[in-house]
Amino acid sequence: MATFLFDEIVFGPVRSRRLGISLGINLLPTNHKLCNFNCLYCECGWSNEKIENLNTLPSLKLFYQKLEDSLSEMYLANKKLDAITFAGNGEPTLHPEFDKIIDATIELRQKYFPDTKITVLSNATLIANERIFNALQKVEQSVLKLDSAILETIKLLNSPPENYALDNLIDNFLRFKGNFVLQTMFIKGEYNGQKFDNTSELEVSKWIEIVNIIRPKLVMIYTIARDTPAKNIIKIQEEMLERIAEKVREIGIAVSVTP
Ligand code: SF4
Repeated sequence: MATFLFDEIVFGPVRSRRLGISLGINLLPTNHKLCNFNCLYCECGWSNEKIENLNTLPSLKLFYQKLEDSLSEMYLANKKLDAITFAGNGEPTLHPEFDKIIDATIELRQKYFPDTKITVLSNATLIANERIFNALQKVEQSVLKLDSAILETIKLLNSPPENYALDNLIDNFLRFKGNFVLQTMFIKGEYNGQKFDNTSELEVSKWIEIVNIIRPKLVMIYTIARDTPAKNIIKIQEEMLERIAEKVREIGIAVSVTP
């Protein structure tokens, strides 16, 4: 099926379903995805490379120049900008200079669009790293992924690294003291002969337990909107997403639903 890659370091602005008018940042390669997850639903397609040569990623200097070019152009054209969003072709926190890049982004945001929010979409695998954790503390929205509270489901949906451990992840979420957004993709279907449905009663009740422990400032619930690399993935209906959202509201946490 047709997935797509971003072909620039700074792209857009695009109108994002969840973030408004957003200038996107891709710190990863432009010709393939680079991620330590390999989600069945990834809009960038499958990861087919080991995480090894990170030195080919765009330098801080090049990034700074590209971001300043885009922001100054938008500023001079009197355009609106709700968000600067790190997403792109994989996991942004893998970039070796991620922390310095966040500092540079804050500096340029202050110069051109001081009211614009900086958002980082991350799979949360590197939040135990102090350098990454501190950088994520500086932005308005660290949007961290947790698609299930059951390890077997995570393994099937996300193909995480070998050392992925839910207990450690929960401890690391707790270090944010609620200053993060949790994002969860709800889907069902079948992959390699294994059926999955993270909207089942068991899945949602275990997921809610973890949400209640880590208590993010917002939960973003969504489902697939575009083609996925794996076949047989089924979009979840809005009614079901709303039912799950209601359970989040019941524990006193804000929630957004993107059907
Ligand atoms: S974490 Fe994001 S970039 Fe990585 S495989 Fe999953 S959806 Fe794709």
